[in-house]
Amino acid sequence: MGTYATLGDVEGKRVLVRSDLNVPLDGTRITDDGRIRASVPTIQALAEAGARVVVVAHLGRPDGAPDPRYSLAPVAERLGELLGRPVAFATDTVGESAHQIVNGKSVHDAVDGLDNGQVVLLENVRFNPGETSKDDAVRAEFAAQLAELADAFVSDGFGVVHRKQASVYDVAKLLPHAMGGLVAAEIDVLRRLTEPDRPYAVVLGGSKVSDKLGVIDSLIEKADLLLIGGGMVFTFLAAQGHEVGKSLLEADQLDTCRAYLARAEARGVEILLPTDIVVDTAFPSGDREPTPSVVSADAIPADALGLDIGPESAARFDAALTTARTVFWNGPMGVFEVPAFAAGTKAVAYALTQVNGLSVVGGGDSAAAVRALGFADGEFGHISTGGGASLEYLEGKELPGITVLED
Ligand code: ADP
Ligand code: MG
Repeated sequence: MGTYATLGDVEGKRVLVRSDLNVPLDGTRITDDGRIRASVPTIQALAEAGARVVVVAHLGRPDGAPDPRYSLAPVAERLGELLGRPVAFATDTVGESAHQIVNGKSVHDAVDGLDNGQVVLLENVRFNPGETSKDDAVRAEFAAQLAELADAFVSDGFGVVHRKQASVYDVAKLLPHAMGGLVAAEIDVLRRLTEPDRPYAVVLGGSKVSDKLGVIDSLIEKADLLLIGGGMVFTFLAAQGHEVGKSLLEADQLDTCRAYLARAEARGVEILLPTDIVVDTAFPSGDREPTPSVVSADAIPADALGLDIGPESAARFDAALTTARTVFWNGPMGVFEVPAFAAGTKAVAYALTQVNGLSVVGGGDSAAAVRALGFADGEFGHISTGGGASLEYLEGKELPGITVLED
């Protein structure tokens, strides 16, 4: 796994590498380059072997059309610095518009003009509706255009291997393919979590609530303890009949949450919910100073918005995690980007560094959070570049971007 031996000698070959370069940006400033760093070894190895490397990646969730807020241009620059070699940036991905000359180069010119060992990064692949289309034929057509740019495909974007998308899944069917070193390394660690030392605790938070609620279903079968924080909390609190004010809420998931709570209780799996919440009257923005206050989780005022777990909850989470031998954590406990709402995330991060066993942090924002809060990568057992992907792996789901490499 993770070798390119199956591709044969790559010297002079055009190799399309799907990387996960989806980093957090503040305007055009990269606030955490962890995913770029993690992607470097595979790209570097291919370049050193004399391949002409065409990197394809996405940033954020644009609407299938070009949007300058989601341009990979700043990433191309950082990637070049980290590789220590120039990275050409093609301001388009494929197709008709690829022939539009921007910065003097269309994609085909950029790719055709590569010498052995040179690297080009294509603009955000999600600017093309074909990338994420649910229509197999539409995706296949886009994948065929991508495949035209290369002689072989290396799948190294662990953060997207759970997605059946053109640059992850369909393109692998059209080219000789191999698994990249990052994906192989991630799978190696996650495999250890499928037979965990117990107690096994899973901490869930973040804002992609609808994406992540479903994983609880299977984690109830696998984990001994589930700790819930972040935006997910409020659907559970509402399911218990509490007012959640203006907090993030998935109103159509209340019955699902009730069922999870009942099933966990029946199985003797503990679901730990926060007992206090840090609230504010509006989502934090640059325009005003935060005005945080701590309220009981069963008494969130109607005009308030829950933005972090409170100090009592942080202490309870910390205490619960000290007994665990295996911990997997995905999703910040609060809006950690704003210091007034970062304490819960910091407490959980600290608790993970103290685990007597294997601790794994997964997810783009979660990984960025631990670094932003001053922790070093080495303080954790493993920091995974993929949140959704690692959760789906732990659920025992098939990851399309992995399965497709096996044929
Ligand atoms: P990951 O990338 O680690 O998988 P997510 O993308 O699901 O995590 O969530 C990260 C985001 O969740 C952060 O930007 C954080 O500000 C946000 N978040 C955490 N708690 C809340 C909350 N209570 N309300 C709204 N957003 C929240
Ligand atoms: Mg995220």
